[in-house]
Amino acid sequence: MIYPDNLELLIQFLSEVPGISERAAERAVLQLSKLDEEKRRMITNALRELERIRPCVECGLPAEEDFCAICRDPERDRTTICVVEQPRDAISIEKLGEYKGLYHVLGGVISPLEDVSPEDLRIGSLFDRIQKNGIKTVIIALNPTVEGEATSKFLIDRLEKMEVEVYRISYGIPYGGTIDMADELTLKRAFEDKKLIAGGK
Ligand SMILES: [Zn+2]
Repeated sequence: MIYPDNLELLIQFLSEVPGISERAAERAVLQLSKLDEEKRRMITNALRELERIRPCVECGLPAEEDFCAICRDPERDRTTICVVEQPRDAISIEKLGEYKGLYHVLGGVISPLEDVSPEDLRIGSLFDRIQKNGIKTVIIALNPTVEGEATSKFLIDRLEKMEVEVYRISYGIPYGGTIDMADELTLKRAFEDKKLIAGGK
């Protein structure tokens, strides 16, 4: 073993995170170990707080308490929900700084191939929120993939029967692309050009 035991462990743990290769983990850990002591202490503290992070009971975004910062923010429009696949999609939308409503993270998309059914996702809680919390507008912002399309259709079929306006963001985002990979301008346009699908008077 070349590295000290704890470095080895860190590399191993990091490389188990989806999307991080062993090489990338090794590089990151080595870079981290070179930082000054103060910076490393800050990172260690932040990592210690990681164990307190859990999904917001309302929307599913990462939170330190029961509710995430967005759900707790009194300035947000509590009658509008934007439905996304993963927290990082909400973060991409937040970076635009224009959307002022709430979010709902599904935690994935319906995929028969990967054995993901509606019950595996946070779909039931979405309908509960809409019915109980006086939601007037739902914006569907799922990725333009086969599964994303199928999931959007599944949601729209059911939302049409509820008393809400349903929008879908337009797809300047290329088919097969993802929201978190889209550049800011494309995502901004996709959001601005959202289409009313159901519930319009
Ligand atoms: Zn929340």
